[in-house]
Amino acid sequence: MPTIHQKNFETFIDSVAIAQKVNELGTVIAKDYKGKDLLCIAILNGSYMFAADLSRAINLPLELTFIKYNSYRSMESSGVVEKFIGLTSEAKGRHVLLIEDIIDTGLTMTEILNDIQQLQPASVEVVTLLLKPSALQEDLDIKYIGFEIENRFVVGYGLDFDGYGRNLKDICVLQQ
Ligand code: 5GP
Repeated sequence: MPTIHQKNFETFIDSVAIAQKVNELGTVIAKDYKGKDLLCIAILNGSYMFAADLSRAINLPLELTFIKYNSYRSMESSGVVEKFIGLTSEAKGRHVLLIEDIIDTGLTMTEILNDIQQLQPASVEVVTLLLKPSALQEDLDIKYIGFEIENRFVVGYGLDFDGYGRNLKDICVLQQ
């Protein structure tokens, strides 16, 4: 049971269930994008591990790049989305798949979608490993969802608590 910054976490989704879900998502995405020019854009920092595994589960030629936004401060959403690193790859006319670790309020993803749409891609879809439906404040159309979870704070598999916990193999939840 990991302790991070004096808080206790317990396993919520274990590494086996994560791997199975990532492979399922990769299989569906590969089928949907067969023959298309696929540009995967992963949102740093949290999605680095998911992007690494998901991209290997998509058995297609694809480009993978990263952007960095951040709206989270410690354990709750700040409600303010800041852009840190922009996109360097050409998105115009290409099929863009945004890779996100978790969608909470949806503010970050709404902002990113607005920015990406302006680049005139052929299509834009979102894959998120985790979604907190009860926290959503935006009307988002998310095509690929790994797990819908309750509105609790999770760490592990790339997700952090003030920088720590990203390297946990399982997704863990704050103990109640
Ligand atoms: P949103 O803009 O949807 O509220 O928040 C999206 C971002 O907040 C995610 O990319 C992630 O970085 C962070 N986030 C949301 N919920 C959690 C959570 O339960 N745990 C962690 N570690 N980060 C979260």
